[in-house]
Amino acid sequence: VVEINGVNKSYGHHQVLYDIDLTVDRGETVCVIGPSGSGKSTLLRCINFLEEIDAGQIWVNDTLIGYRVANGRLHEMREREACKQRVDIGMVFQHFNLFPHMTALQNITLSPVLNKGVPKAEARAHGLELLERVGLKGRENHYPSQLSGGQQQRVAIARALAMKPFLMLFDEPTSALDPELVGEVLSVMRDLAKSGSMTLIVVTHEIGFAREVGDRVVFMDEGRVVEIGPPEKLLDSPKEERTKAFLSAVL
Ligand code: ATP
Ligand code: MG
Repeated sequence: VVEINGVNKSYGHHQVLYDIDLTVDRGETVCVIGPSGSGKSTLLRCINFLEEIDAGQIWVNDTLIGYRVANGRLHEMREREACKQRVDIGMVFQHFNLFPHMTALQNITLSPVLNKGVPKAEARAHGLELLERVGLKGRENHYPSQLSGGQQQRVAIARALAMKPFLMLFDEPTSALDPELVGEVLSVMRDLAKSGSMTLIVVTHEIGFAREVGDRVVFMDEGRVVEIGPPEKLLDSPKEERTKAFLSAVL
């Protein structure tokens, strides 16, 4: 589903990603770990075309991100056209970014109605279903300020799911939460991963989650993919010194 080839990315003179190669298969859950500043968020943002890359290619579902085909030729896309590519990719951020003046249900139905032309009643019915799926039945009329952080993050997940994406990108979805609220969000993500139909790329500091739910774990450091492997291998017997050093610091 996702194929990243030789991706490089700089901010000005500061290179943040070096020659990133990564392939993620349909239905797979890939967890990305690594120290602060290693480029994890930037990589996710490039997949979603929130950032432009300087070199390399990112393919998502046979679409080249940042380009469109016209008259048999590839043309670079402008930012404005990019939302078209984004509708099929869901993203959940560390800070939930819900619209504060809208209820939980309104947050969820806004984009399907506006960007996909889904009839309001249908969006509403699907929204209620999704709220139930993330354990928030009965909270549809609550405003974000009336919900806990964990509940808000679950609304944010439901909002992303409302667009029926085939790929979900999570950027440290639990790191802004009080410890007692982390579990409820991870549990929703675990269910998503186990449902098998969704492809997930999860940047996380939750090593336990990566171990249990990840099909593969990617360790990034200083803008490079240092090591990729199944969780038990990468987490319990890493090959690279840098991976060992990171894990012994966080575990
Ligand atoms: P964290 O675990 O703290 O979230 P990260 O692995 O997600 O870190 P990134 O946010 O991708 O790291 O940042 C990688 C590097 O790029 C950092 O050195 C950061 O300062 C720099 N950076 C990120 N965004 C920008 C930006 N918009 N402009 C300039 N530099 C940026
Ligand atoms: Mg980050």
